[in-house]
Amino acid sequence: MKKSKQLPNYQDVTKFHGHECPGTAIGYRAGEIAVKELSTGRAVDEEFLAIVENDSCSLDAIQVVTGCTMGKGNLIFKDHGKQVYTFMNRKTGGAIRISLKIDLGTINPQFSEARLKASSNTADELDKKEFEKQKDILNKKVLEMPAEKLFKIEKVKLETPEKASIYPSVKCAECGELVSEHRARVKEGQIVCIPCFEE
Ligand SMILES: [Zn+2]
Ligand SMILES: [Zn+2]
Repeated sequence: MKKSKQLPNYQDVTKFHGHECPGTAIGYRAGEIAVKELSTGRAVDEEFLAIVENDSCSLDAIQVVTGCTMGKGNLIFKDHGKQVYTFMNRKTGGAIRISLKIDLGTINPQFSEARLKASSNTADELDKKEFEKQKDILNKKVLEMPAEKLFKIEKVKLETPEKASIYPSVKCAECGELVSEHRARVKEGQIVCIPCFEE
């Protein structure tokens, strides 16, 4: 019998991330779409690639669901401050771009109001409770709403980026610590690491 890959669930994401929040709910949905659209049914691993355009809570969900991680080199971070996630299966060449098209205040209008109240100087316990409640409602909605209402999803063509490379290390002339060659700098004719270069 063919064993299909079990997708991690939202609880797995929460366990990794530490709390439930709209960010991980968005990341969970994006990752789930990516795996469904691009997976060839085998364990998703290094052949998967994610390009993320923000460094919010959603990233943790992406890492758990797709297996793309910074350490493996198949998670590329672009500091654009955008809720856009692009995924590619390097084996098949298939790629999709997923961008959030609805803002959280539209999904749950009471959320923005509750957040404003809870973060004000005069916020009391009740305000904080209300914020938690509205956040939970928002979360649930993000997790359950139809994907095409939440995201714009489009097939894209991507160049296959090089696999994670391993660079040789060199010794910093100032602190003596090892530094990956492609990150080393030259200062007054000596090879140094970035912190020593910037000193
Ligand atoms: Zn979070
Ligand atoms: Zn150094």
